[in-house]
Amino acid sequence: MNEYDTHLVASELAARGAAFVETVEEANFVLVNTCAVRGKPVEKVRSLLGQLRKEKERRREPFVIGMMGCLASLEEGQELADRFGVDVLLGAGAIHKIDEALSGVLPYRDTGFYPEIDEIIPPPPEGTLSAYVTLIRGCDHHCTYCVVPRTRGPEISRHPDLVLKEVEQLVAAGILEVTLLGQNVNSYGKDDPSYPDFADLLRQVAALGVRRLRFVTSHPMNFSDRIIEAIAETPAVGQYVHLPVQAGSDRVLRRMAREYRRDYYLERVARLRQALPDLVLTTDIIVGFPGETEEDFQQTLDLYDEVGFDNAYMFIYSARPGTPSYERFRDMPREVKVERLQRLIEKQKEWSLARNRAWVGRQVEVLVRGPAREAGWVEGHDQSNHPVLVPAAEAPGPGLYQAVIEQASPHLLFGRVTKTLVAGGGS
Ligand code: SAH
Ligand code: SF4
Repeated sequence: MNEYDTHLVASELAARGAAFVETVEEANFVLVNTCAVRGKPVEKVRSLLGQLRKEKERRREPFVIGMMGCLASLEEGQELADRFGVDVLLGAGAIHKIDEALSGVLPYRDTGFYPEIDEIIPPPPEGTLSAYVTLIRGCDHHCTYCVVPRTRGPEISRHPDLVLKEVEQLVAAGILEVTLLGQNVNSYGKDDPSYPDFADLLRQVAALGVRRLRFVTSHPMNFSDRIIEAIAETPAVGQYVHLPVQAGSDRVLRRMAREYRRDYYLERVARLRQALPDLVLTTDIIVGFPGETEEDFQQTLDLYDEVGFDNAYMFIYSARPGTPSYERFRDMPREVKVERLQRLIEKQKEWSLARNRAWVGRQVEVLVRGPAREAGWVEGHDQSNHPVLVPAAEAPGPGLYQAVIEQASPHLLFGRVTKTLVAGGGS
């Protein structure tokens, strides 16, 4: 979502005649897009703003510091802005005000939420093969650990005409893969009865000729049978779902205000597997939520075994100022959280290796992005979102290749190209 927002603002700046440079030294305006979901990204922003302030002090000519996104929406970010002399501050709901901000007197601050944010259709980035399209902004859930409802506001679906027009433009520009974005894409259309629901929108988007269609993120509560049916009927979507569970213990789920319980999640997974026999399922898990006992944590490990996730994004609970869990509960010692995370990572590695090995010998379609870190290989991902490496000699540039998987590690599949499906694309 942040990448999409960065692209949106960059397009606005380009339309204004801005030229982009590689280093801070060459720039006269630096705009930092921020994340506030955990403490770590906030620390990164703090140190970056410190460096930028030093640069500003060194400069004789004007040097403008900007900050946008979720952290800018929070008091925590506004305090940083004061401290480090930020000249332009745009909250996550006001990023399209960049032109106005730079046209007037500085400092400029706007932390409002404006529906016009989605009137802008950024042109497709040249030469790329995959792109994001925002479906819905904000979140109507109230998970007690999470800043998002405060930073991105309530759910607002984008007008379907805009979504479809944007996708059409992307397809015409040669984009092969579109990822539909939202904190909770499954609730698309709930705020306007004249809009299609997510299941129908998925079908409509696929009908525009998108070769590969993905979506993030899904909330288990909004993952209806209608959506499962739409996925099963839409070959462009493939059999990949990211469905954050967060915890395996009902007690913790309740304290997180996750609305569902363990059994409900398992039932959704069973239903998904029934409709999508080759399902690749990934999740998000938070370890060390306040009050999580060893027994609660064991239930998360058990749930992992019961589901057999292909992969997981695993986070140590980060107490975020202003969230209900920060106000109400006491954080537990870091060592306990780190130790639990390590045990969970071990579990994830075992499962990822086993699940990835099951792909050895199978044909996949790899969307190759470019050179891998490993010399002699290029990297991409297949229709189930596995990262895949193939020899550079067999896939000379970005494009779509058919490959057979020959080897698997917990993090990667290694393949051999059997056919070039679509060659081309710049970067
Ligand atoms: N809307 C999405 C994801 C939002 S943030 C969803 O509900 O699935 C992405 C992930 O960050 C979450 O799924 C959660 O696992 C993690 N996260 C959010 N707040 C966190 C916090 N305070 N500490 C640790 N992890 C957090
Ligand atoms: Fe945050 Fe929960 Fe909303 Fe996801 S569903 S953005 S975790 S409040």
